[in-house]
Amino acid sequence: MQKIIIAIDGFSSTGKSSTAKKVAQQLGYVYVDTGAMYRTVTYLAVKEGYIATTGVENEKTGKFENTIHVKKEELIKKLKNSSLSFKYNSELGFSEMYLNGKNIEREIRSIEVANLVSEIAKIPEIRVYLVDLQRKMSQEKGIVMDGRDIGTVVFPDAELKIFMTASEQIRAERRFRELQEKGENVSFEEVLKNVQQRDFLDTTRKESPLIKANDAIEIDNSHLIFEEQVNKILLLAEEKINSL
Ligand code: C5P
Repeated sequence: MQKIIIAIDGFSSTGKSSTAKKVAQQLGYVYVDTGAMYRTVTYLAVKEGYIATTGVENEKTGKFENTIHVKKEELIKKLKNSSLSFKYNSELGFSEMYLNGKNIEREIRSIEVANLVSEIAKIPEIRVYLVDLQRKMSQEKGIVMDGRDIGTVVFPDAELKIFMTASEQIRAERRFRELQEKGENVSFEEVLKNVQQRDFLDTTRKESPLIKANDAIEIDNSHLIFEEQVNKILLLAEEKINSL
């Protein structure tokens, strides 16, 4: 049977990763979580001290606002000398992220990394480097890749493109529950603010902003249960494969 590339893009906390993982498992495809790669670069920047936040007073409002500084050249050099890889965990049934041979799944899902990742993801040189890695990881078809620019930049010719949305309140509630289950000490307001901030930065950045590809199929999953959404995508994939 012919294999295809399935690109799943959308806003943060729409359940893209869990859906993509399940779809890949059902089809026997490889799953690539590109958000994990941007998170890994952010974790690397934090670990190496290449990212700093300073509070600066806004002259007009008098309020303190955070400014994030990134030592871009140092970070890119370090990134090029590091190895980012996914290793399949047969117990979990999906791949986990490794940086220089160390499993960093837990570290990259922290709220600290979530608060900084969109600043790192807007750096053009980092995007070029990661997009190249993503294309290399997927030289064979039979891929489900999720992110923000998969259908528009990484694989503009993907046979099936899905764009996932859900209301921001529902997305924040989902992420809050997830973080609580992991024992992260974080308030709902903080999570909601993070979702809003990432939406803003991801959709307004100059380099590959989050937009729906013209030929993507939109799925609003605010009121869909997980299985319904997975089945919907599996059906679309089956139709596509049969039409080739
Ligand atoms: O998907 P996830 O929420 O883990 O992605 C984390 C962040 O990485 C996003 O908010 C976005 O800033 C960035 N990202 C991106 N392009 C991708 C995947 C993720 O800019 N393809």
